[in-house]
Amino acid sequence: MNLDKLETILAGQPAYRAEQARQAVLKSLAENWDEVVGLPKDLRQILEKEIPLKIDAKIFASPGADSLKALVTFGDGLRVESVLMRHDNRNTVCVSSQVGCPMACSFCATGKLGFKRNLTAGEILEQVVLFGRALKRENQRVTNIVFMGMGEPFLNYDNVMAAIRTMNDQKGLNIGARHISISTCGIVEGIEKLIDEPLQVNLAISLHAPSDLLRSKLMPANVKHPIDDIMKAVLRYVKNTNRRVMFEYIMIDNVNDSDECARELAELIKSRLSLKLAFVNLIRYNPTGIYGASSPERVKAFKTVLMEAGVETTERYRFGREIKAACGQLAGDKNQ
Ligand code: SAH
Repeated sequence: MNLDKLETILAGQPAYRAEQARQAVLKSLAENWDEVVGLPKDLRQILEKEIPLKIDAKIFASPGADSLKALVTFGDGLRVESVLMRHDNRNTVCVSSQVGCPMACSFCATGKLGFKRNLTAGEILEQVVLFGRALKRENQRVTNIVFMGMGEPFLNYDNVMAAIRTMNDQKGLNIGARHISISTCGIVEGIEKLIDEPLQVNLAISLHAPSDLLRSKLMPANVKHPIDDIMKAVLRYVKNTNRRVMFEYIMIDNVNDSDECARELAELIKSRLSLKLAFVNLIRYNPTGIYGASSPERVKAFKTVLMEAGVETTERYRFGREIKAACGQLAGDKNQ
């Protein structure tokens, strides 16, 4: 499917026809043009030829089926992974924004792949449409989106925002802006641009360390965007939008999980932001090579230090480890 061509192909059509075709793909989630009987046959034939609706993807289910992973192949043969997570009546799609990732975080499987290219808006949407179709068979829909798959969304800002506008469109996928979250390793320009967006999506910062010394070891991007710059941009974001920011923090055994780190993290957040407008999400580390995961006891102790300091702290669900669909395990494996 090449959704990017949709507008060009529909350009010569009357507005209502174009709208009908758009809604067929994004609202009714049609799987081929033949079933869109409201459109004239000759237009359906053109659309079938130019934008076949088939999505080239393999889907893997986890044993408990709380998550599905999809390996999606695009026109040039490159692939990304996307994940559907199901819990508490929510169906959250974790989308990729790039093929590979240039940020090279030392703990992340995607980082090891290197960077291939940005995804187009259509390719980002395709990942949502794919799971939307699967859910429709159960009379359900995609309710939430997180940009936490492969890639750094703020290095592909325009395509990510174009995809978000279409996701949000009430005549299409109709996913509320408040149900859409962008996670960034701290690209300051991206945070600043987001402040001025009319659509107020959620912002998550992958922090993972309370000091530049440790963070730069884990995340090379920290050298260009140190914690101070990120926190200043986040402060502007919360002041302007009055929206809460989530700080993601992977718990890596003996690396960033000491009580001392927790105290430093609490201090960092308290000294910069109003506690009402920030919270920490502790993420269980999914080992991908050199590091190990913190023990549940350590995570609990770390959380206690934060909570006692007044910083709201949650723990992330663990989805899809059996199918290598968990955070940082997305590597577009060709052998699956
Ligand atoms: N580039 C963006 C979005 C992709 S990563 C970002 O950095 O936020 C989505 C989340 O998964 C980030 O918080 C990332 O740091 C985390 N992550 C990466 N590798 C992981 C791993 N092996 N285990 C757990 N979380 C991981």
